[in-house]
Amino acid sequence: MAESRPPALSSRPEDRTGALLTIDLAALVENWRVLKRKAPGADMGAVVKAGAYGLGLEPVARALQAAGCATFYVAHLDEGVALRQVTGPAPRIVVMHGPNPGTERDFASLRLIPVLSTPAQVKAWGRFATASDVLMESLVQVDTGMNRLGLTAAEFTTLLNDPEGFAGLTPLALMSHLAVAETPSHPLNAAQLERFDGALARFRLKFADAKGSLVNSSGLFLGPAFHFQLARPGAALYGVNPTPATANPMIPVVRLQAKILQVRRVDAAAPVGYGATFQAPDGAKLATVSMGYADGLLRSWGVAGHGYIDELKVPVAGRVSMDLTTFDVSNVPDSALGPGAMIDIIGARQSVDDLARDSGTIGYEILTALGRRYHRRYLPAPATARK
Ligand SMILES: *Cc1c(COP(=O)(O)O)cnc(C)c1O
Repeated sequence: MAESRPPALSSRPEDRTGALLTIDLAALVENWRVLKRKAPGADMGAVVKAGAYGLGLEPVARALQAAGCATFYVAHLDEGVALRQVTGPAPRIVVMHGPNPGTERDFASLRLIPVLSTPAQVKAWGRFATASDVLMESLVQVDTGMNRLGLTAAEFTTLLNDPEGFAGLTPLALMSHLAVAETPSHPLNAAQLERFDGALARFRLKFADAKGSLVNSSGLFLGPAFHFQLARPGAALYGVNPTPATANPMIPVVRLQAKILQVRRVDAAAPVGYGATFQAPDGAKLATVSMGYADGLLRSWGVAGHGYIDELKVPVAGRVSMDLTTFDVSNVPDSALGPGAMIDIIGARQSVDDLARDSGTIGYEILTALGRRYHRRYLPAPATARK
């Protein structure tokens, strides 16, 4: 195959894209420290699945590792493989979806720790670990009320009662996942905690050293009884509010700015965009930015969405298209709309959670939908500052 070399370009990368995504690694690290202080007895890990929730696996993992994070969680084996190349051999890497048949050898060679969620996974891993001469840890996941992933209560009991049930396993921890942690008053939290406490006590009769792992970001705010020994926060590290009913205790990590491509004034009332769903009034001023649903702006955001130019709120005018979105900037002075002007989509005046609310979704979906066409800028964490 012919090697294709990238062409030599004379422009700056940030000038070739329609938008700028700035990721503040110092804020990320500070958020991790805030969570760590919240549960001083637990190993504070970091969930970096889905490319660190869209913010970039490599820079995020490097910054957290430099800050002292020693346990990372991903969903897929391939994510674990990529992460191991970033971190080197030191940290624990837990692969939450466990081994697909035939992948056990790769888990072992890269020291990736699988989460085992079905009797078949438990059996296959046990068989593989028995045949291998190195000790291979795993996590066993038991369902406590979410009914998504993990051994059912009945499967767990059957395996425990069978002398060969967990044969060959060296479990680092028993794990479960909370379904409603962001709603502290929901009775399912206490019910899941009680079931997990019971399951862990029985598991420890067989594996006395097994740790417990129950909480995600929001779970850390339910009180120390929920923390156990391994914590698995994701979203809160990236600035999403883990306590949606109260003020956000996390620092914002993401800023997203869209470049204005064109400003126009409509002489007489006129429709804007696909479907002609929005009528710009007589004399309205419109600005179109180089960002659309292919970049992660949801089409549903067009109905109630807005951005900011400095402190001025500018509503979306008409539908979000694939690469373009138009805003009504009638209230913005021309001096603020000159070449290089940008509209803040996520920033000091509009959080990830605000954007999510106006899009009919949650901050998690906004972050993981962030596009690939942005120019990405990483503000270094103090400990990782280089150059
Ligand atoms: C994604 C995930 C987490 C992290 O959840 P956040 O709400 O983002 O903190 C923790 N545990 C499991 C099993 C997950 O799938």
